[in-house]
Amino acid sequence: MSLVDIKSMSHSALSEYICSLGFPKFRADQIYSWLHQKGVTSFSQMTNLPKNMIDKLSSICYISVANIEKKLVSSYDNTIKYLFSLSDGEYVEAVVMEYHHGYSMCISTQVGCKMGCTFCATGKGGFIRNLNASEMLSQIHTAQSDLGIRISNIVLMGMGEPLDNFTNVVDFLRLATDEKGLSVGARHITLSTCGLVPRIFDLADLHIPVNLALSLHAPTDDIRSKTMPVNKKYPIDEVLKACKYYADTTGRRITYEYAMIHGFNDSDECAFLLAKKLKGTLCHVNLIPVNPVEGTGYNPSKDKRLASFVGVLSKYNINATVRRTLGSDINASCGQLRGKNLKDKGGV
Ligand code: SAH
Ligand code: SF4
Repeated sequence: MSLVDIKSMSHSALSEYICSLGFPKFRADQIYSWLHQKGVTSFSQMTNLPKNMIDKLSSICYISVANIEKKLVSSYDNTIKYLFSLSDGEYVEAVVMEYHHGYSMCISTQVGCKMGCTFCATGKGGFIRNLNASEMLSQIHTAQSDLGIRISNIVLMGMGEPLDNFTNVVDFLRLATDEKGLSVGARHITLSTCGLVPRIFDLADLHIPVNLALSLHAPTDDIRSKTMPVNKKYPIDEVLKACKYYADTTGRRITYEYAMIHGFNDSDECAFLLAKKLKGTLCHVNLIPVNPVEGTGYNPSKDKRLASFVGVLSKYNINATVRRTLGSDINASCGQLRGKNLKDKGGV
């Protein structure tokens, strides 16, 4: 018999489940609070439950974990990178960043990724499996208790394509925003996607107003298809239409991520074409000098090029900022640490 993933259950599903086992409903409130507010990792830590209940739950349920396999602290900034091991021994990465307004955490949604973007360390490693909602939450709980802090902002920008793990990610969003749980407001959560068009519409229709970041990285289909295979299925104009629907439905401004690759997508002509594409939309462009990943041959654009690109965009009233990669000394770009760990252990 397979064990029940109790931490992925909504509050109402948990109440029903606990009652179906013959226990009173208020026990579900206690368990939910242990799991989601205190982030405990075993039933024996639930000290206000009777022993027979702890024994019963331990025999039929499990509490998912994200154990710290490696922890790297950047010497440039306060960025902390974790490599977590999951219950089946798979690894995922996450990053905690300190900002003036609190702590932000970038978590993974899949082990690996199917999308195959050529600049991405995760994409290069292929796909292993989806994470459950509980495994996404556990990354946050482990970091919170390790650092003694509260995470106030969440970004789904670690390993994996969140919209390719739609149901679990939506469950996670519902649990993370629940006032009886982590209670992080939807406005403090950002989901980044490579552009799975039908799922962007689906997410908009759920009215969980998280911020949407679209990994655009190119102004034309020609250029985008060279690095992002997903573009062949969902070309730029279709993705932008979906983003417009998302913005109109949720009232949230879209962020466009644009990795600046030296000599590939960073010319003034590219900036002009990008401005033309985004004209009239409520958006923000995040320019990120590409993080060089072994074997890709891509190099980050030079500072002068970045400044010129921003200049062209601002001439056409497109808001843009250059985002420096945080923690560049600790392989903070997701996928790099897991890849390195597997290599050290004789894997990929
Ligand atoms: N799959 C989702 C979210 C995870 S990737 C997505 O693609 O949006 C998070 C972000 O990191 C994306 O914007 C992705 O394009 C970017 N990224 C991946 N590899 C990178 C690299 N080597 N340098 C800079 N950005 C990179
Ligand atoms: Fe997957 Fe995102 Fe990496 Fe592309 S950039 S391979 S979608 S994780």
